[in-house]
Amino acid sequence: MTNLLLVFLEGAYTNLKRILFASDRVTDMGIRNMILEGRVTPTEKVAEASCIGCGGCSNACPTGAIEMVDLDEPVQLMEGLTKTQLPVLNSEKCVNCYYCHDFCPLYALFGQAGTIHPNDVGEVDSDISQLLEKPVKISEDKIAFISQYLADNTIIRKRENK
Ligand code: SF4
Ligand code: SF4
Repeated sequence: MTNLLLVFLEGAYTNLKRILFASDRVTDMGIRNMILEGRVTPTEKVAEASCIGCGGCSNACPTGAIEMVDLDEPVQLMEGLTKTQLPVLNSEKCVNCYYCHDFCPLYALFGQAGTIHPNDVGEVDSDISQLLEKPVKISEDKIAFISQYLADNTIIRKRENK
């Protein structure tokens, strides 16, 4: 019982930090302000063609606003990598923290426009199969940013409990 309480408190604290203080968000504040002030026209939430269906955005979302849904037809992106799911963003649960965008590998690894965005994915014309063939150079900072999610105990527990 005590352990359960600790797990709950740890998860709640991590997410509270993200929501209130944007403790590990990197999306440019200028873009964020433009969106919050309504100067960006909302379009699609997910650029489906470029999304690889990795589920990173869903794991990173502190409010559980992103659900990964199964595709009717899986899409093979390259040998050994097939997309089976796409994220669906629930705007009513979204608090505009932009972690989903920041964690999307297109943005985090390749520096391209992220394929998910709470208000506007913008122009995403990346050819995902070509990007995936490209060697990626990642800075220590970026590895630390990504690994904090991969090592986040609350996410690992969430997966184990599925
Ligand atoms: S911007 Fe919205 S959908 Fe994206 S991680 Fe934050 S709360 Fe979740
Ligand atoms: S993190 Fe990006 S590529 Fe991965 S499922 Fe979410 S939108 Fe798609």
